[in-house]
Amino acid sequence: MKLEVIENNKTDNILTFILKDSSVAFANVLRKNIIAKVPTMAIEEVDFKKNSSVLYDEIIAHRLGLLPLTTDLKSYVLPEKCKCKGAGCARCQLKLTLNVKTPGIIEASKIKSQDPKIKPVYPETPIVKLLDGQALQFEATAILGKGEQHSKWSPGHAYYKHVPILTIKKNPKDAEAIVKSCPQKIFELDKNNNLKINKERVMLCHACEACADVSNGAVELGREENSFIFTVESWGQISCREMVIQAIDVLIEELNELEMLLKQK
Ligand SMILES: [Zn+2]
Repeated sequence: MKLEVIENNKTDNILTFILKDSSVAFANVLRKNIIAKVPTMAIEEVDFKKNSSVLYDEIIAHRLGLLPLTTDLKSYVLPEKCKCKGAGCARCQLKLTLNVKTPGIIEASKIKSQDPKIKPVYPETPIVKLLDGQALQFEATAILGKGEQHSKWSPGHAYYKHVPILTIKKNPKDAEAIVKSCPQKIFELDKNNNLKINKERVMLCHACEACADVSNGAVELGREENSFIFTVESWGQISCREMVIQAIDVLIEELNELEMLLKQK
């Protein structure tokens, strides 16, 4: 297996890499684990002390649940794996509180967290608009969970495609039409008006086959069967690299469990 990172922005909320000499089965396990099995923190319970806003408690609670929270996986464990057996302790949950009675749009930044490391990723997310004399006060409990239980715990998105192979088989009759046909602008004309492939843009090909349709067999579109362009996007709770590493850890854990079960039989 080989890996080549082709994009990783500074905030680490997008990571694209090429996974070479792998298989569809492996790429798909990685994708599914990232989306469904990597734990993150999210609000699970809200105890409303006061709510005179126009929104029902349930609507506000639902909104709060969907707030991505910065997650520290070293300090917290899943409730079912905690020593307290899910009863709730400082290792598996934390409290977030809000107490406002000023009119205006109440943003997520107003929520006070027990642990400064766990806070809303996007502080400008609106929660509710309060009018004169209205108030909102609650105590929320956030716990670790997985995307397979509820998508609010999903750390982000992961997807892949095969590495495309584009070949110019012969001189096309209408090179300009091929250049124009590609939405990703992968083709260009050289000085002598000959069709050429822009090597830096080939990876952007999403196999729409528009070039093949207008080329009369001059351009051929194929794919590398065992190489994948893998993209990970983070909703902000944890970084993309951590998402991939955690997904691999989950796979190792499951394989260890299977090994142990087999040995017992
Ligand atoms: Zn606990």
